[in-house]
Amino acid sequence: MKITDIKTHIMRVPLVSPFRISLGVITHAMSCLVEIETDEGITGYGEGSPGPLITGENLEGTVASIHVLKEKLIGMDPRDIEAVYTVMNRSIAYAGTAKAAIDIACHDIIGKACNLPLYRVLGGLSSEIETDMTVGIDEPEVMAAKAKAHVEAGFNVIKTKVGTDIASDLARVKAIREAVGSDVKIRLDANQGWHAKEAVKLLDRLNEYDIELIEQPVPRYDFEGLKYVTSHSSVPVMADESCWDAKDALKLVSERAVDFINIKLMKCGGLYEAKKIVNIAEAAGVECMLGCMSEESGIAINAAAALGAALKNITRADLDASFSLTELPYEGGFTVKDTRHLILSENPGLGLSGLREDMLQ
Ligand code: MG
Repeated sequence: MKITDIKTHIMRVPLVSPFRISLGVITHAMSCLVEIETDEGITGYGEGSPGPLITGENLEGTVASIHVLKEKLIGMDPRDIEAVYTVMNRSIAYAGTAKAAIDIACHDIIGKACNLPLYRVLGGLSSEIETDMTVGIDEPEVMAAKAKAHVEAGFNVIKTKVGTDIASDLARVKAIREAVGSDVKIRLDANQGWHAKEAVKLLDRLNEYDIELIEQPVPRYDFEGLKYVTSHSSVPVMADESCWDAKDALKLVSERAVDFINIKLMKCGGLYEAKKIVNIAEAAGVECMLGCMSEESGIAINAAAALGAALKNITRADLDASFSLTELPYEGGFTVKDTRHLILSENPGLGLSGLREDMLQ
């Protein structure tokens, strides 16, 4: 089997409502969707969604990088993922979103070529995964009302964005806990918004609201700070922006700097690298969560959900971005049960039946 073409499509759709995190505001989903065509008539779908606030990439750059990679990949067998990845890494450094788009489409082709859903190609532990639902930064009463509505709709875990200032963050978490009751898990994400000592002090006070974990309390480059928070707070700490790839994961777990790792396909460049992170973390006794960029369309979430269902060391999922889109730019893929369970398609690969051409540029 040989790659004959890699087509790119731009998708830009407004979110149901703007989403604020400590780093800025996100108003649109935006992605580069790819179709990898082969000489055997199998087409693979993928997605590269730059989260500029997190990855520093932008959509035009992702598209340009995919076209650079295309020139190197035409003629290769998309099932030879180690070879594909070696060529990609020798062509462009970083560029996780472009590599993720191609990696996901190649895995879609692998599933289709062996007539298996992707979750079974990747390990097959389960065919479903439960996701949390995220509440963006706002006034405490607004966040509490949104959290309550999500719980009433069926979500069991609320992820709450924090990371602005101590008084506001305390008020937010207090209001949400009071609104959702004691049975719902609350996980926090500061998106690098605090300093280490400030984080420890604040977490001591937030502990009374029964916090499951705190994601990325300190700046991404501050590994020492992350380690400080992990060793000085009883609230478990998860790395997100501090863990880009397997090398970051190795450093973080070797130094006992975190309790959990949040993997995103757009940071690490796809399923190939994500599996390495999961394996390194598992060897160190560190569980992983699978997350997504707020700008994603859902195609990459199908891939992330497949990995999350397939592997036992992925114990949490924050795969809620496609719930914020008014329409999805594809047909097929996972279905949703009881609001929070993503049930993977039993069709081969990602199980997508096609792209919505009317939603693409
Ligand atoms: Mg995060």
